[in-house]
Amino acid sequence: MASKEARERKLKEIQELAEGWGKMIAREAFPDGPGLDVTLADMEEYAVAASRALVKGAVESMATTQGEQLGEEAPCPTCGKMCPLKRKSRPVVVRGGETVLEEPVGHCPACRRDFFPSASGIEVGRSRVQPDDASSHPAHRQRHQRF
Ligand SMILES: [Zn+2]
Repeated sequence: MASKEARERKLKEIQELAEGWGKMIAREAFPDGPGLDVTLADMEEYAVAASRALVKGAVESMATTQGEQLGEEAPCPTCGKMCPLKRKSRPVVVRGGETVLEEPVGHCPACRRDFFPSASGIEVGRSRVQPDDASSHPAHRQRHQRF
């Protein structure tokens, strides 16, 4: 991770860039400028829709790139056997919007468990997700309930 100063400099650059995008959104919403009948709430509606879309696009992109670094397989946390990783979509609420994460999920046939290889912060508020395909098997259900 970059130093605190470098991070703050980058954040400032991004804010200036995004402020410019905000002005573009204003021109897109009202090419001839907002008429006198346009309320502040109307303006806000366009801005918030754009802001939420921006959060979605940015977080999805960063989390996907991060997940790709985990590769195609990961060791089972229980037995250490290398297991193939699948990607599973999970909608999450983040600050300023909602997004869909494409999360890597491993399944160990020996331990009969699913696991989420951790890279980092993509584990937003999750401790134990029970994938749909696991709940149909009684052994899986019992195992998951113990966690
Ligand atoms: Zn295992």
